[in-house]
Amino acid sequence: MIPVTKPFLPPIEEYQKYLIGIWQRQWLTNMGPLASDLEIKLKEYLGLNHLLFVTNGTVALQMAIKALNLKGEIITTPFSFVATTSSIVWEGCRPVFVDIDKSSLNIDPSKIEENITDKTTAILATHVYGNPCDVIAIEKIARKHNLKVIYDGAHAFGVKINGKSIFEYGDISTCSLHATKLYHSGEGGLVVTNDKEILKKLAFIRNFGFNGPEAFAELGLNGKNSEFHAAIGLTNFSYIQKIHQKRKELSEYYNEKLKGLKARQPVWHKEGTLNYAYYPLVFDTEELMLKCMEGLQRHEIFTRRYFYPSLASTLPYLEKQNFQVTDDFAKRVLCLPLYVDLSLEEVDLICRLLLRIQNN
Ligand SMILES: *Cc1c(COP(=O)(O)O)cnc(C)c1O
Repeated sequence: MIPVTKPFLPPIEEYQKYLIGIWQRQWLTNMGPLASDLEIKLKEYLGLNHLLFVTNGTVALQMAIKALNLKGEIITTPFSFVATTSSIVWEGCRPVFVDIDKSSLNIDPSKIEENITDKTTAILATHVYGNPCDVIAIEKIARKHNLKVIYDGAHAFGVKINGKSIFEYGDISTCSLHATKLYHSGEGGLVVTNDKEILKKLAFIRNFGFNGPEAFAELGLNGKNSEFHAAIGLTNFSYIQKIHQKRKELSEYYNEKLKGLKARQPVWHKEGTLNYAYYPLVFDTEELMLKCMEGLQRHEIFTRRYFYPSLASTLPYLEKQNFQVTDDFAKRVLCLPLYVDLSLEEVDLICRLLLRIQNN
């Protein structure tokens, strides 16, 4: 059996070393030393001024919306994971979907302005599959219309554009460190900002709004993460290079072996680095995609229609909407297995099967 993904697990002994320290200190959560150490290491690795380690990538989004005090309408993409939209609704705002660009599969900046109303307060865009949004165009629109920008960078860990972390763009960027993500802490998330005032607010929000033991500065929630999760994050931290290298090798092998397949990858940002978070393919037709998905399944090889269906056409709490590009691509996209334990032989098998299924 080949699953579509498998969490990376470091040698258990390395995690156990951290557990001994947790037992000795008896400090299990509430911004303990491991969580602080992880924040410092990630800041340095990603080249960022500020970041906070939080519960998960969904809470990170909710905290971002709250910290920017957003109300009314938030322009967003229908081609993302449900948390991008649900966090907007959860915070009492209305998501306004804008169709995606057919090359990048990210929100299409040329369609944003026509959707701005006097109620619009922000743009929340996802760097889909770690492929950077057109951050320059989005920033220009945001400046012109006085909008805040949040990037859902759940897929974009480690990505740089023009030599700078993708998380530096926008008023706030978020990341997910969920077990299925490229780099993970079991459960976890990051909020990133360059603005000291916003950072302060986010730090209050993460800790119930507490400002000292008996005072409150903000409306807060519990966005803290535990020492146990920080320990997984720290253990995995030493493997980031190895994880990246293996995923790169597998992805490039897919590229080479799938040249004859009637499918293509999204067009990656010219100035962006690749993090190989996923191996997405857009097939020429939905029929061929389904044939390939079902054909692989018969060999116990599992793929995922990520993202299908579009968020605009599926959420029971929103009015259904159709988008030409999003609906078309969502129907034809498929993510192939990609994880550190996957072998080149297995990729070889998947590729041979795909070509055989297509040509039958
Ligand atoms: C995984 C993911 C999230 C949610 O992150 P969690 O850590 O699972 O809460 C949000 N947005 C996108 C695009 C994701 O892929």
